[in-house]
Amino acid sequence: MAPSLEEPESIQDVLSNPMKAKTQLVAPEPEHCPGPESERAGTADSCAGCPNQKICASAPKGPDPDIPLISQRLAGVKHRVLVLSGKGGVGKSTFTSMLAHAFALNPDSTIGIMDTDICGPSIPKMMGAEAETIHVSNSGWSPVWVMDNLGVMSIQFMLPNKDDAIIWRGPKKNGLIKQFLKDVDWGDMDLLLVDTPPGTSDEHLSVNSFLKASGIDGAVVVTTPNEVSLLDVQKEIDFCRKAGIKILGLVDNMSGFVCPKCTHQSQIFEATTGGGETLAKDLGIPFLGGVPLDPRIGMACDYGESYFDSFPDSPACKALKSVARSVAVQIGLEFVDPSSED
Ligand code: SF4
Repeated sequence: MAPSLEEPESIQDVLSNPMKAKTQLVAPEPEHCPGPESERAGTADSCAGCPNQKICASAPKGPDPDIPLISQRLAGVKHRVLVLSGKGGVGKSTFTSMLAHAFALNPDSTIGIMDTDICGPSIPKMMGAEAETIHVSNSGWSPVWVMDNLGVMSIQFMLPNKDDAIIWRGPKKNGLIKQFLKDVDWGDMDLLLVDTPPGTSDEHLSVNSFLKASGIDGAVVVTTPNEVSLLDVQKEIDFCRKAGIKILGLVDNMSGFVCPKCTHQSQIFEATTGGGETLAKDLGIPFLGGVPLDPRIGMACDYGESYFDSFPDSPACKALKSVARSVAVQIGLEFVDPSSED
């Protein structure tokens, strides 16, 4: 006999109340049950005599009370954008850090990155803030400012030792994400990029549901041009659609390799089915552009330097600016590149 799995919860159910665990009943719900998660659970006339009555009566009711607090925290942030991927290894965090740097080229705008990948936070290293710890003020946790107009917040800042393995499970993991959203004082900001864990894991759902309730502009979905990645990213796009998250567009990362010496471009991830651009067209979502792989991006991230300052004329730099411009159009934000002659 095939092993049986518990029926999965619907995306809508999880998103509508991410932190509330399903009420554990001791008996099946009777015919006229008002719903164990409903406001009247355990107190309705039809609950009289039900073996679950005590459990249902004491279960938490209504929407998560922290959602208004999260909304308040983000009230000064004009645009909130999720960066998603269907799988790990597509360079999502690197892309997020590059996108933040691209927007931060405009000295008059303030940009933030929220690193919610709590099991493998890599943003602090990429932003040159690895040794930082959390700053606490009267108004909450302050982001670490890696540039005058670029702030970062990551779980890593809370760890005593950066090499510690982070093992969070279930409610603790979600609680931490909630605390992140609730306690960080982002202040006034033009754009907050939220680097989310890949796939549709627990923490991914938590981040999406909390931010969705507090208002987000949408999601930038990152893929690489090869078939395996494109298959996974379609699941992510399906998730966004089911969850009601607007898809701002698809980015083809590592789309070609640029030799740092001769700047010749070659393909590493073969786009056998046309890559991200064709997929975006097929799915009817905007294609934000392709970003070639340049080993100097990795080096800049390793040293926590701005790739834009070091290699302003590289093909990847131009491609990233073009993607940033497309994202800006999607969310109605002006993209300003001071080095542009336009
Ligand atoms: S106590 Fe009421 S809400 Fe809970 S299972 Fe029984 S009938 Fe449903």
